[in-house]
Amino acid sequence: MKDCLFCKIIAGEIPCNKVYENDKVFAFRDINPQAPVHVLIVPKTHVDNILQCDGDMAAALTEAVGEVARLEGVDESGFRVISNCGSDGAQSVKHLHVHLLGGVQLTEKMN
Ligand code: AMP
Repeated sequence: MKDCLFCKIIAGEIPCNKVYENDKVFAFRDINPQAPVHVLIVPKTHVDNILQCDGDMAAALTEAVGEVARLEGVDESGFRVISNCGSDGAQSVKHLHVHLLGGVQLTEKMN
């Protein structure tokens, strides 16, 4: 989608630190990490947020979460997955993405 930051990253027009890619999903390190492991996992097809995510896309994202967790070495220690949606959800980039956070003991606080 024109003028979408994450679409430009997926297209290679804006540099990123890529972690994983397959035909449906792209994953790269968050530019402002909130944990030692902070990876953004995004569908290659632009949708704004989780409200527009169909079952195929959800499956691809979920599989990619597992792949990235294994690649980053947090599959056994554990991690957190978050997808912010809309204004109250504090979503700043309007391209569906999942945050994978780990590499440290996360707090129980979620907000
Ligand atoms: P959200 O607030 O859930 O929309 O998350 C957007 C995330 O994108 C934030 O955690 C930002 O730090 C991250 N971000 C913004 N620009 C970039 C970029 N160019 N490369 C990597 N991550 C980015």
